[in-house]
Amino acid sequence: MDTLTKTGGYKYRIYPNYEQKVALSQLFGCVRYVYNWGLSRRVEHYRETGESINSYDLSKELTQHKKAPDKTWLNDVLRMPLRVSLFNLDKAYKNFFQKRAKKPRFKKKVNSQSATITYQYFAIKDKKLSINKIPGLLKLRWSRYWSVDADVKSVTVSKDVSERYFVSFLVSEPVAPLRPIDNKIGIDMGLTHFLTTSEGEKVDNPKYFIKQLKKYRRLCRAFSRKKNGSRNKEKMRIKKARLSAKITDCRRDFQHKLSSRLIRENQAIGLESLSVENMLKNRHLSKHIADASWSMFLAMLSYKGDWYGRDIATPEEEFFPSSKMCSTCGFVLDALSLSVREWTCPACNTCHDRDVNAAINIRNHTVGETGI
Ligand SMILES: [Zn+2]
Repeated sequence: MDTLTKTGGYKYRIYPNYEQKVALSQLFGCVRYVYNWGLSRRVEHYRETGESINSYDLSKELTQHKKAPDKTWLNDVLRMPLRVSLFNLDKAYKNFFQKRAKKPRFKKKVNSQSATITYQYFAIKDKKLSINKIPGLLKLRWSRYWSVDADVKSVTVSKDVSERYFVSFLVSEPVAPLRPIDNKIGIDMGLTHFLTTSEGEKVDNPKYFIKQLKKYRRLCRAFSRKKNGSRNKEKMRIKKARLSAKITDCRRDFQHKLSSRLIRENQAIGLESLSVENMLKNRHLSKHIADASWSMFLAMLSYKGDWYGRDIATPEEEFFPSSKMCSTCGFVLDALSLSVREWTCPACNTCHDRDVNAAINIRNHTVGETGI
């Protein structure tokens, strides 16, 4: 079997000393400045010419811009992270044009900060990280290692709103596909559960996660009541950002474990497509969190499927009636209210659990029935 390559991030907490914090803060500041400068240049350029300008041209402009007497401080930090910053701006615009993200906005000092350094400018010595133009060695809390034949492409240093520092290495490494097995399942993404499988397993969001989500929603409501521009509103904004980061971490961890297990246990997995109808089922969660949560999980299954030689499939039609169809005889109901958890097929009298039935339909429709 061919060896495949997986590219992923390895993230660790770091503990910079005072000097290193100062140097990092300078780097973050320059990266943020260049991003914002690039953003306003793009807006200006579009207004003047009606055409867009990409990071390649902006990079050349930046070289000139840095020569201005009041901009010499931009030369005190590594050049590469500044270019990466412009490249990230390109990506942000691309995502916006393809309707995957909101319009790029100016970066603020109070939000999380980051800088990406390509492999030429850093090294790992004695399990510590050295980065050009950052004094001394950075101490890392190692939790796991990449394989010996891995290719480390870049490292992103970041500081979150809680003043915690992290590094995330982008690593490309060979991966051996898992041994093929026979099991096939379908997955119904959740209304009352995070997901239900065609084998009848129901997986809930972790309780801790639900609790944090509720807290977040309360915070959002309180936030909107505070007066614009007030110091209290600003404080609450930071609190909100911290909690949001915590929720993302928690959800990532849960979804990584779950997706890895499903990939290990099954050769083929059928999933619902992310249609509007399916999105609406999840309206009880804070909407953007729910949407992001689903797409993140589907993305994990899909790339892990590629790495380990498993098949991930979704129905081709956008509105496959997975819930309303009887998985025993194929009869389709006219309607099935979201509150109905169990129903009996009028044609063949089979009693169905709503989610398990939907998962079985998805499995049969995408990856085929088991044993065939
Ligand atoms: Zn039936």
